[in-house]
Parts: sequence; structure tokens; C-alpha cells
Amino acid sequence: MKLCTKCKHLHNDEDTVCSDCNSTLESITDENTPVYLLSAAGFELERIKTALEDNCVPCDSVIKNKELRKQEFINKNSAVSDIFVPYAAYEKAYDICVGIGAIKEDDTVILDDDAKPEQNDEPTLDEKFEQMSGAKRTTVRVLSAIAFLALVALAVYGTDAIMGFIKGLFS
Ligand SMILES: [Zn+2]
Repeated sequence: MKLCTKCKHLHNDEDTVCSDCNSTLESITDENTPVYLLSAAGFELERIKTALEDNCVPCDSVIKNKELRKQEFINKNSAVSDIFVPYAAYEKAYDICVGIGAIKEDDTVILDDDAKPEQNDEPTLDEKFEQMSGAKRTTVRVLSAIAFLALVALAVYGTDAIMGFIKGLFS
């Protein structure tokens, strides 16, 4: 794992610059290095900090906007703050935040997992069309065979014989 030197966002080892602020990345050597977890404000911020502290995860929140940070009169809770946790506790803190709904797991990943088996099991529209037209084709073939046999019977035995046969079926 690599860490942005400026915003403290975590990145994969293959990344070279931060996707959030374009700053350079450094490898994490100290397990206690504070890393960015998420941003929150007000009640949500307090809720997350309480949940982390309840689970023995130390955390620190820093007001995001530097101008707001300077204004001492501002109510600290009303400003959006970045929450930082030690790198060693990051995964635990992340899981806690997912658990309390503060972090939504990546939707696309969940969708991918659901979509793949569906694509394999469900026939495509083309396949469905193929099956339907195939069934229709069979029905047409059977009906024309019956019609052909009826015509042959009509030619060979004449109308009376066929009418007699049909009457015999229903009597
Ligand atoms: Zn950054």
C-alpha cells in the first residue's frame, strides 16, 4: 500500500500519483502513520468517531476546509472533517464504517458479482427468439403434415369416408 503525501489517501502499490490531488505517493513504513478513512460532518462525524472509539480504533478528525479551520468561532461539528486512523487499524476502521453504513461498499463490485452468473444462466434475447421461432416452426410443420394427410385422405377415400371417420370419432 502507498500513501499520498498530501491528502493521506491510500493507494495501490502500482499507482504513482494520487488520483485525488495528484501529489506524489510514498510507501508506508510506519504502521502508525495516519491514513485518510472518510469525510463526514455533524452527527455523522460524531457517530463514526464514537463507533471507532468503541472498537478501540484511535482516530483523529481534521476540518477539511483550511479557511474554516482558521475561524475559531465556527462550530467544529458543522464543518466537514477528514477522519484519519493509524494505518495498522485502517482495515478494521473501514469494516466498522461499512458496518454502521458510513461507507457504502463499491456498488459496481456488487453489481458485477450479480450480473456475471445471470449472463451465464439466462439465455440472451437472441437465444430466446431462436427457441420461440423454433417451437413455432415445429407447430407449423405438424399442422401442415395433418393438412397434407387430410388432403391425401380426401383424394383417396373421398369426402363421405372422411365425414364418416370424423362422425365415428365423436359418436
Ligand atoms: Zn492525495
